[in-house]
Amino acid sequence: MATCSHLDEITITQLPEAVDGCEDCLRIGDPWLHLRLCLECGHVGCCDDSPNRHATAHAEASGHRIIRSLEPGELWSWCYADEVAMILPEVHGETRIPPSPLGG
Ligand SMILES: [Zn+2]
Ligand SMILES: [Zn+2]
Ligand SMILES: [Zn+2]
Repeated sequence: MATCSHLDEITITQLPEAVDGCEDCLRIGDPWLHLRLCLECGHVGCCDDSPNRHATAHAEASGHRIIRSLEPGELWSWCYADEVAMILPEVHGETRIPPSPLGG
Protein backbone atom coordinates (compact mmCIF):
# COMPACT_ATOMS: atom_id res chain seq x y z
CA MET A 1 0.00 0.00 0.00
CA ALA A 2 1.28 3.44 -0.90
CA THR A 3 1.93 5.82 1.97
CA CYS A 4 2.53 9.54 2.22
CA SER A 5 5.98 10.71 3.28
CA HIS A 6 4.95 14.36 3.67
CA LEU A 7 2.91 14.24 6.85
CA ASP A 8 5.44 16.44 8.64
CA GLU A 9 4.48 19.26 6.24
CA ILE A 10 0.98 19.47 7.69
CA THR A 11 0.54 22.60 9.79
CA ILE A 12 -3.25 22.62 10.07
CA THR A 13 -4.80 19.99 12.32
CA GLN A 14 -7.93 21.94 13.30
CA LEU A 15 -10.38 22.56 10.50
CA PRO A 16 -11.88 26.06 10.26
CA GLU A 17 -15.36 26.46 11.75
CA ALA A 18 -16.79 27.84 8.54
CA VAL A 19 -15.63 28.98 5.11
CA ASP A 20 -17.39 31.05 2.45
CA GLY A 21 -16.42 28.85 -0.48
CA CYS A 22 -13.49 28.50 -2.85
CA GLU A 23 -11.52 31.66 -2.18
CA ASP A 24 -10.24 31.89 -5.75
CA CYS A 25 -13.69 31.37 -7.30
CA LEU A 26 -15.18 33.96 -4.97
CA ARG A 27 -12.55 36.43 -6.12
CA ILE A 28 -13.47 36.02 -9.80
CA GLY A 29 -17.17 35.28 -9.36
CA ASP A 30 -17.07 31.71 -10.66
CA PRO A 31 -19.01 28.71 -9.31
CA TRP A 32 -17.44 25.60 -7.77
CA LEU A 33 -18.52 22.06 -6.97
CA HIS A 34 -16.65 20.64 -3.97
CA LEU A 35 -14.26 22.30 -1.52
CA ARG A 36 -10.76 21.22 -0.47
CA LEU A 37 -8.53 22.66 2.24
CA CYS A 38 -4.75 22.88 1.91
CA LEU A 39 -3.40 21.39 5.16
CA GLU A 40 -0.13 23.27 4.77
CA CYS A 41 -1.45 26.84 4.63
CA GLY A 42 -5.24 26.79 4.94
CA HIS A 43 -6.03 27.77 1.35
CA VAL A 44 -9.60 26.82 0.39
CA GLY A 45 -9.89 25.68 -3.21
CA CYS A 46 -12.27 23.76 -5.41
CA CYS A 47 -12.05 20.13 -6.55
CA ASP A 48 -11.01 18.71 -9.90
CA ASP A 49 -14.66 18.40 -10.95
CA SER A 50 -15.02 22.16 -10.59
CA PRO A 51 -14.41 24.31 -13.68
CA ASN A 52 -11.34 26.03 -12.24
CA ARG A 53 -9.73 23.22 -10.19
CA HIS A 54 -8.30 25.72 -7.76
CA ALA A 55 -7.14 23.16 -5.17
CA THR A 56 -4.89 21.49 -7.72
CA ALA A 57 -3.81 24.86 -9.13
CA HIS A 58 -2.82 25.93 -5.62
CA ALA A 59 -0.85 22.73 -5.05
CA GLU A 60 1.05 23.23 -8.30
CA ALA A 61 1.71 26.92 -7.69
CA SER A 62 2.71 26.63 -4.04
CA GLY A 63 4.34 23.22 -3.81
CA HIS A 64 1.90 22.31 -1.05
CA ARG A 65 0.94 18.68 -1.35
CA ILE A 66 -1.75 17.67 1.07
CA ILE A 67 -5.43 18.60 0.96
CA ARG A 68 -8.43 17.60 3.05
CA SER A 69 -11.97 17.44 1.79
CA LEU A 70 -14.28 20.01 3.40
CA GLU A 71 -17.45 18.30 2.20
CA PRO A 72 -19.78 17.17 5.02
CA GLY A 73 -19.09 13.56 5.95
CA GLU A 74 -15.93 13.33 3.83
CA LEU A 75 -12.94 12.60 6.04
CA TRP A 76 -10.28 11.85 3.47
CA SER A 77 -7.10 13.69 2.68
CA TRP A 78 -5.02 13.43 -0.49
CA CYS A 79 -1.31 13.81 -1.19
CA TYR A 80 -0.63 15.10 -4.68
CA ALA A 81 2.99 13.95 -4.62
CA ASP A 82 2.31 10.37 -3.58
CA GLU A 83 -1.15 10.22 -5.18
CA VAL A 84 -2.48 8.52 -2.10
CA ALA A 85 -5.74 9.04 -0.21
CA MET A 86 -5.67 8.71 3.56
CA ILE A 87 -7.53 9.45 6.76
CA LEU A 88 -5.53 11.66 9.11
CA PRO A 89 -6.68 11.10 12.72
CA GLU A 90 -4.77 14.18 13.86
CA VAL A 91 -7.00 16.47 11.79
CA HIS A 92 -10.04 17.48 13.82
CA GLY A 93 -13.20 19.48 13.36
CA GLU A 94 -15.92 19.92 10.83
CA THR A 95 -16.30 22.94 8.58
CA ARG A 96 -19.59 24.61 7.73
CA ILE A 97 -19.67 25.32 4.03
CA PRO A 98 -22.27 27.03 1.86
CA PRO A 99 -24.24 24.97 -0.66
CA SER A 100 -22.27 24.40 -3.83
CA PRO A 101 -23.22 26.84 -6.61
CA LEU A 102 -23.05 23.88 -9.00
CA GLY A 103 -25.04 21.54 -6.75
CA GLY A 104 -24.14 18.05 -5.66
ZN1 LIG B 1 2.92 12.61 0.47
ZN1 LIG C 1 -12.28 27.59 -7.28
ZN1 LIG D 1 -1.32 25.70 0.63
